[in-house]
Amino acid sequence: MQTTAGVEYPLPWEAEGELYGGFFRAMKEKKLYARKCCSCAAWQWPPRPFCRECQSTEFKWEEVPDHGTVYTYTVMYRAFSEYYTDKLPCGVVVVDVGPVRLPGRFLGHAEDIECGITVKAEFDEQALTGSSLAWVAR
Ligand SMILES: [Zn+2]
Repeated sequence: MQTTAGVEYPLPWEAEGELYGGFFRAMKEKKLYARKCCSCAAWQWPPRPFCRECQSTEFKWEEVPDHGTVYTYTVMYRAFSEYYTDKLPCGVVVVDVGPVRLPGRFLGHAEDIECGITVKAEFDEQALTGSSLAWVAR
């Protein structure tokens, strides 16, 4: 468990594994990476063991833009961990950064979220400790 201001929050269950490790290692360096198939160059997110286009199992990590537009979102009114109890309601957005769509916490008022707004990755303490990505409106 990682902590922010004494509140524990869990690391993703595969943060150090083969499928997600490259993403979380890059996030700690304030970069966003996604997997790309070595055989057909198809981007892949979320990571899967096989390429959905050509079934290859060879991938490389490549940097993707740290900004994009909100593709979809949801607003939470109940905390699923202690960390969120004083942050409700809070938004979770899925951001189209071009080659892939990346989910993350929305930092700001949930009522400000709309599909299509421009957002930028925010590398806050949770992101830099490898827990979860955050986005802010630009
Ligand atoms: Zn492929």
